[in-house]
Amino acid sequence: MAEIVLCTDEFEEYLRDESRSVGSAESIVFPESEADVRDALHALHATGVPVTVQGARSGLAAGAVPHGGCVLNTSRMNRVLGMRRGSDGRFFVCVQPGLSLMELRDMLQKASFDTTGWNDESLATFAQFKAAPAQFFAPDPTEASAALGGIVACNASGSRSYAYGAARPHVEAMRVALADGDVLALRRGEVFATGRELRFVTEGGRELVLNLPTYDMPKAKNASGYFACDDMDTIDLFIGACGTLGVICELELALLPVPVEVWGASCFFPGEAEAVDFTIAVRDALEHATAIEYFDGAALDVLRAQKANNPAFAELPELADDARTCVFVELSCDDEETAEAELMVLCEQLEACGGDAEGAWVATTEAERAGQRFFRHAVPESVNMLIDQRRRTDPSITKLGSDMSVPDDRLRDVIAMYRRTLAEGGFESATWGHIGSNHVHVNILPRSAEEYARGTELFAQWAAEVSAMGGAVSAEHGVGKLKAHFLEEMYGANHIAESARMKAQIDPKGQLGRGNLFSEEVLDAALAELA
Ligand SMILES: Cc1cc2nc3c(=O)[nH]c(=O)nc-3n(C[C@H](O)[C@H](O)[C@H](O)COP(=O)(O)OP(=O)(O)OC[C@H]3O[C@@H](n4cnc5c(N)ncnc54)[C@H](O)[C@@H]3O)c2cc1C
Repeated sequence: MAEIVLCTDEFEEYLRDESRSVGSAESIVFPESEADVRDALHALHATGVPVTVQGARSGLAAGAVPHGGCVLNTSRMNRVLGMRRGSDGRFFVCVQPGLSLMELRDMLQKASFDTTGWNDESLATFAQFKAAPAQFFAPDPTEASAALGGIVACNASGSRSYAYGAARPHVEAMRVALADGDVLALRRGEVFATGRELRFVTEGGRELVLNLPTYDMPKAKNASGYFACDDMDTIDLFIGACGTLGVICELELALLPVPVEVWGASCFFPGEAEAVDFTIAVRDALEHATAIEYFDGAALDVLRAQKANNPAFAELPELADDARTCVFVELSCDDEETAEAELMVLCEQLEACGGDAEGAWVATTEAERAGQRFFRHAVPESVNMLIDQRRRTDPSITKLGSDMSVPDDRLRDVIAMYRRTLAEGGFESATWGHIGSNHVHVNILPRSAEEYARGTELFAQWAAEVSAMGGAVSAEHGVGKLKAHFLEEMYGANHIAESARMKAQIDPKGQLGRGNLFSEEVLDAALAELA
C-alpha cells in the first residue's frame, strides 16, 4: 500500500499547478496501482478527509490545487496495461492515468511498449498493431506533459479537436475509484440514464441513483461543468468531472490510423474581418480540415519583434508587412490527389476573402510542418516571455487568457464583442487559438496591477456575454476552482445547486475535488440537504 505521508516542505510543488495558484494540504500519497488508490481512499473516507486528485499539474484552472486535506498524486501510475482490438478493427490502448500524452505519443510512434504483465489478448493485439498502419491518439492539447487522467478529467482538447473532437469520444472505458474506495467499471455503450436519472452498480455491489442536472449544455465546444443530457451514457458523466466524482484509475483509449497526407497552410489577411470570413467559408468548403487556427495582428507583431531582437527566434520566417492576421489550416487526407484538390478549394476561398494565395505558406513535408509548428508555438512562448519581463517590475502581473467558445453562428459577434471591450478598456492583448471551433484565446497583457484587476473584471463580463450567446465559459481548460463563478454565470445558481446535489449523491462526505466546479459553501449546503 502506498503510504499517506505528511505534506511537508519537500512536497511544496504539489500545492500548485500552472495557474500559479497555491493551496495547502496536510498529507500526500503517491499510489502506483488501483489497489493503492482504493486503500488510500478507504482510509481517508473513514474521517472524511478532503482529497485532491492530481495528474501532471499542468492545469490552468487550479483544479489540482488542494484546499486542505490529502493530495492524491497519480504521477507514479504511468504504465500501459495492455491493448485490445475492436470488432470494427480499431485499436484501443489501456493505460494508467498518470501516463503523459507525450509518453503515449512516443510509444505509439515507435510502436514500442513495455509489455511486462500484459495478458495473451494484449500481446496478440500488439503483434497486429506492429503490422498495421501507424496509429495515433487524436486529442492534442498543446501541453503534452499533461497526464492522460488529467486530460480526460478536464475533457481537454487541442487544435485538431476541430475534426476529432475533445478527449471524450476517444475514451472507450474507464475504471473510477469512488470516495470510499469502491470502484466503478464503465464501458461506452453499456449503461445509460433514463431521462436525467442515472442508475449504476459499483463493483462492491452498491446501486447508486444520481439525479443529473437539468440544464441544456451549450451547442459549442465545451469543458464547463458536468456533462448532462437525457438518456446519456454513464461514462460521459465521469469525463470532464474535474476530479469531483472519483479517481480515474484506468483508461481504455481509442486510437486512429495516422492520415497519409497531412498538409498545413498558413494564410495571411489584411485584417480580422477577412480572417473570420475565411474561417466561416472554409468550414463549409473543406472536407478534410483537421485544424483551423487563428493569430491576430498583435500576435504576429510579437513574432516580428522576436525575429528582429531574439536570436532564438531568428529562424522564424519573414512576415510580409501587409500580413495583419493569419489563419492556419491543417488538411489530413488519405492521398496526395485529395490533398491537392482540398488545397485548391482553400486557395479559392483565400482569394475570395481578400487574402493572397501566392503569399500563403504551404507545408507538405515533415520538415516544412515542423517550421509551421515552430511559428505557431512561438506565439504563446513569446507572449509568456513578455509577461515575465513585466513581472520583474511588478510580480503581481500575470497573463489573463480566455478560454470561451460560442456556437458557429455567433463567431462574428463574439470577435466584435472582444474587440469593442478591449478597446474601451485600453488593454494590450494578443489573440490566437481555435477559431474553427469559435474558441479563441484572447490574452490580456497587463502593464500594471491595476490593469490586471480590470482585466479580471472584463473576463467576468465576457463570461456573461458568452453565456448569453449560448456559449461555454470554458471550452477546453476546465472550470477547476478559478472559473467556478463563471460556471454559475453560465448555468445559474439553481443548476449549480443541482450539480452539487448530484455530487453529494456519489460523494456523500464531499471529499473529492472540493472547490472545483462550485464553491465549498454550495457543496456543503447540498451535503447538508442530503444528510
Ligand atoms: C502551456 C500550456 C498549454 C496548454 N494547452 C492546453 C490545450 O491546448 N488544451 C487543453 O485542453 N488544455 C491545455 N492546457 C491545460 C492543461 O494542460 C490541461 O487542462 C490538462 O488536461 C491537465 O492535465 P494534468 O494531468 O496536468 O491535470 P492536473 O492539472 O493535474 O489536473 C487537472 C484536473 O483533473 C483532475 N484529475 C487529474 N487526474 C485525475 C484522475 N486520475 N482522476 C480524476 N481527476 C483527475 C484534477 O483533480 C484537476 O481537477 C495547457 C496548459 C499549459 C500550461
